[in-house]
Amino acid sequence: MRTSELQAADKQHIWHPFTQMRDWCDPGYDPLVISEGRGSVLIDSEGREYLDGNSSIWTNIHGHSHPKITAAIRAQAGKLAHSSFLGTTNEPAIRLAGRLVALFPPETLTRVFYSDDGSTAIEVALKMAVQFHQLTGHSERCRFAAFDHAYHGDTAGAASLGGIAAFQDRFAPLSFPVTHVADLASLESLDATTKASLAGVIIEPLIQGAGGMRTWPPGLLRDLRAWCDREGVLLLLDEVMTGFGRTGEMFACEHEDVAPDFIALAKGLSGGTMPLAATLTTEKVFQAFLGYYAEMKTLFYGHSYCGNPLGCAAALANLEVFEEERTLERLQPKITHLAELLLGLATEPNVSGTRQCGFIAGIDIARPDGTPFPWQDQTGAKICMAARRHGLLTRPIRDTLVLMPPLCFTGPELESSVAALRAGIREICG
Ligand SMILES: *Cc1c(COP(=O)(O)O)cnc(C)c1O
Repeated sequence: MRTSELQAADKQHIWHPFTQMRDWCDPGYDPLVISEGRGSVLIDSEGREYLDGNSSIWTNIHGHSHPKITAAIRAQAGKLAHSSFLGTTNEPAIRLAGRLVALFPPETLTRVFYSDDGSTAIEVALKMAVQFHQLTGHSERCRFAAFDHAYHGDTAGAASLGGIAAFQDRFAPLSFPVTHVADLASLESLDATTKASLAGVIIEPLIQGAGGMRTWPPGLLRDLRAWCDREGVLLLLDEVMTGFGRTGEMFACEHEDVAPDFIALAKGLSGGTMPLAATLTTEKVFQAFLGYYAEMKTLFYGHSYCGNPLGCAAALANLEVFEEERTLERLQPKITHLAELLLGLATEPNVSGTRQCGFIAGIDIARPDGTPFPWQDQTGAKICMAARRHGLLTRPIRDTLVLMPPLCFTGPELESSVAALRAGIREICG
């Protein structure tokens, strides 16, 4: 099909996520049709190339069409694409579970529950946490604490934990019991009844993503772990975005030597190739669910594609690439390089601030006097559209530009990306 035919057919039948479809379907709007990906580059249906500046919404790790991951998916597809994880098991899922557990300190996270997306990985943790407390004599613990500006996904349970009003308010009637807190101090100052009703606290460690690339003060995660231990509250880490090298370590929790009670992994788990998620938990949580069938301690939870062999094969290859290419070691100088480039960008009159956590960057756009642009102007989105014409694909969070490239990005690719953002900023604001 020709590009124009694809665009017309898309507008006829498709409803895109997080998209005002009136704008999308406007005859004057030509949606980009992505046809190929190679390494750091995405190629559209007209053969134009773009650097993948947000890792295809924070999923891609080693680049597109990585030969090793592609070969693993191909080989697995030739053998078994899917069979049920309810009542049977499969080798890629078994091997991957062992590999995942081995990425954490011994005897910390020992059990792996598979699902499909970040949101489902969170749902699993929520249900496990509530049922764990029921099974250990604390059925009063059925509430969660979550932080302002948090984002944990869009299914109803995960969305209840979110702290972003625009995504949240409309669905408030569907909300789970959640106490939203600004920071650790406000968590500590909750009244005793609320504290005693908490099943768990959930946090995006080190940096909140969709809330605007907001970094936490160093030490906060460790202090939160200590607070949870004192209060008998489970600690849920959402590493859907930060996992798999994004922060410079394999997982963000390693920066503060914190072992959680649950960790949710998705996006980068398969290297950004297949929808796959995993919720890891401790032997202590797992043991509480063991009993005679008639005791009704079973976790009645699952999805059709749990333990999908194609996804697990991709994830195994993803982890092998980390080792073979020494990805984390080679990433360190690139993180420094990114910091230098951000320093340069910060001198733009319309850049009011920049934040970096490993290979994740947020760049705030504002008027030269520091006051924000009206949000309705969608200045951030316009800048990203302008940057696209300079060969960079990314999306903003309101007026925060996001640069979160695949870990395989080279120095020159980082430089071109920042140059494209600078050009976009000048075109739209200047
Ligand atoms: C993307 C994201 C999710 C949701 O994952 P999906 O795969 O989109 O359901 C949850 N938490 C964080 C921190 C995320 O960035």
